[in-house]
Amino acid sequence: MRQGKLNKTVPFLDLGVQYNQLKTEIDEAIAQVFAKSSFVLGPEVEKFEGEFARYCGANCCVALNSGTAALHLALLAMGVGPQDEVITAANSFIATAEAIAFCGATPKLVDARPDTANIDVSKIEEAITERTKVIIPVHLYGQPAEMAAIKKLADKHGLRVLEDACQAHGATINGTRVGTFGEAAAFSFYPGKNIGAAGDGGAVVTNDERLAQHIRLLRNHGSEQKYHHLVLGHNFRLDSIQSAILSVKLRHLDSWNQKRREIASGYTKELEDLPGIETMTVIDGVTSVFHLYVIRCADRAHVESVLKEHGINYGIHYPVPIHLQPAFASLGHSPGDFPNAEALSDSVLSLPIYAELSVQQQNQVLDAVTEAARPGH
Ligand SMILES: *Cc1c(COP(=O)(O)O)cnc(C)c1O
Repeated sequence: MRQGKLNKTVPFLDLGVQYNQLKTEIDEAIAQVFAKSSFVLGPEVEKFEGEFARYCGANCCVALNSGTAALHLALLAMGVGPQDEVITAANSFIATAEAIAFCGATPKLVDARPDTANIDVSKIEEAITERTKVIIPVHLYGQPAEMAAIKKLADKHGLRVLEDACQAHGATINGTRVGTFGEAAAFSFYPGKNIGAAGDGGAVVTNDERLAQHIRLLRNHGSEQKYHHLVLGHNFRLDSIQSAILSVKLRHLDSWNQKRREIASGYTKELEDLPGIETMTVIDGVTSVFHLYVIRCADRAHVESVLKEHGINYGIHYPVPIHLQPAFASLGHSPGDFPNAEALSDSVLSLPIYAELSVQQQNQVLDAVTEAARPGH
C-alpha cells in the first residue's frame, strides 16, 4: 500500500478545485466584461485571439464557439464541399468526422497505430483518391500525430492539412507547439480540455491571413459590417466572458501541462510492467500534453470493476470507433474494417489526470490498477 492513501472517491476531473485556485482572477475578469457589457465578440475576444495565436506561434487566431465549429469552418474556408473526400482517423471524437459531413463531404477513415492510438501514417496513401482534398490528423489524447510524414504525403498528392488539435494545446513536435504544422489547426475550449472555458469555445489558428479572414466572415453570418452579408455564414461566435476566462487560464496552461506530464510519467513508471496492462507509447521528438492518460487492458471489464470498488472514476475514449457509429451508417462500414481502432475501443481506459490531482489521489489510482492486474485477482 502506498503512503498517504485517503479512502475517498477520486474524480475523473475536478474543475471546482481549479476554479477555487483562480477565483480572484476569474471573478475579476468576468466583472470587467459586465462593466463593458459587450458580450459577443467584444474586446476580450480580440485580446484572447492575439494571446492564443502568440502562444501557438501563429499569425492568426479566430475564436469560435466550439472546436467542432473550428473544424467545420476551417474546412469550409479551405473550399471543402459535396464532391470532396477528407481523410481522418477512425478513432477520434465524432466531431472530427462530423465536421467533414457538415460540409457535405465524405469522411475517409484510416486505422490507428495500436501503440499510440494516432492515425497510422502508413495507411493514409491507400485512402487517397482523386476526390481527396484535405487530411485531418488528430493529436489524440494530447500526443501530436506524425506531422512530418503526413505533410510529405500531403505535398506529394497536393492535399491540404488541418490539424485537429482539440486535445493538444501546447503539445510540441521538435520543440514547436502544434497549430502551425498544417495550414490551419482547430482547438476546443470545452471545459474538460487542457484549457477550458466556462461553457463551449473553440478557435482556428493559422498563418494564412486570408483563410483567417474567410473564417471570420463565416463565423458571423458572412458579414464584416453589420447587416451587410457577403456570403452565407453561421453564428459560431465566441462570447466575451469565455474569452476573458480563457485569457486568465492561458497564463497557467504550461504549468498545468507540465503537471500532467509529471503525473503521466508517474503512471507509466508504475504501470508499464503490470501483466494485462499496456501503457501508450510517446514517439520520439514530441511532447504530449496528456489531455487523457490512456492504458490498454487485456480484461477491461475486470479493471473497471476493481476501479469502481476503489471509488476511482475513469473514462473510455472511445467505446465505439467512428466507422461503427450509427450516425455514420451511411459510410457503409462493418466490423473488421479498422481492426486497430476496434481493438482500441475494446481495451482502452482513461485514468484521472489533471494538474490538481494530488499525490494521494494518484496513489489511490495506482493501488487500484495494481490490484486489478494481480494474477488470480
Ligand atoms: C473535443 C474535441 C472536438 C470538438 O470540440 P468541441 O469544442 O467539443 O466541439 C473535436 N475533436 C476532438 C479530437 C476533440 O477531443
